[in-house]
Amino acid sequence: MITIQDVSKVYSLESGDFFALKNNNIHINKGEFVAIMGPSGSGKSTLLQLIGGLDLPTSGQLNVDGTQLNHLNEKERTLFRRRKVGFVFQNYQLLPMMTVTENIALSLSANKASKSDINSRVHQLLEDVNLGGKETQFPSQLSGGQQQRVAIARALAMKPQLILADEPTGNLDQKNGEDILALLSKLNKEEQITVVMVTHDQQAAAAANRIIVIRDGEIVNDLKKGVNGNESLASSLA
Ligand code: ADP
Repeated sequence: MITIQDVSKVYSLESGDFFALKNNNIHINKGEFVAIMGPSGSGKSTLLQLIGGLDLPTSGQLNVDGTQLNHLNEKERTLFRRRKVGFVFQNYQLLPMMTVTENIALSLSANKASKSDINSRVHQLLEDVNLGGKETQFPSQLSGGQQQRVAIARALAMKPQLILADEPTGNLDQKNGEDILALLSKLNKEEQITVVMVTHDQQAAAAANRIIVIRDGEIVNDLKKGVNGNESLASSLA
């Protein structure tokens, strides 16, 4: 699903070149649920942005769901993001002036789906995230947990095989955070959607089957779920 070869991201600063990511190699199979952990500023979000085609590496190769990202121009990368990747962010990133339906339908409309197809798809997606009946509400009328579920419904609209989530529980209380992780786990298990999630939260990481730890732009640990489960795995990395 994801192959990253010798990928570096370098920012040219007045003080010289700064390596946000340094020669990383990662292979993620379809159906994995991966948590990316590491201190603030270690390169987690940069890595997620490269995988999602939001940014390009300075060097190295990225292949995501059969697409060699390095070879795409800006327009092709926009289409790649719309069709192949569902993004979920810490602050939900819903458009406040649009209803729940309009937010979820954005990529469907951009892809020229018919109005009746859009309405039935949005209805089904809202049922799937347990928000049936909220179609005409605006984001500000929903709780944080509900907004994040709308964001997940939006991410699923184009039936992506990959969800990229950047601190998806970061703004939520314990209960709502657990609900969001349960939803991501369900999508991963039942629909084989690959999930890559940046988190600094050990409890969130425990939902994953694999934990990749980054420090100063380099992978320092890559652990798959073992007999003891990830809770102890995550705490041993703290
Ligand atoms: P994390 O998600 O682990 O907190 P980031 O991937 O956001 O870390 O950032 C990694 C490093 O790259 C940080 O030191 C950050 O300051 C730096 N960085 C990110 N974006 C830019 C940019 N546009 N210009 C210069 N430095 C940047």
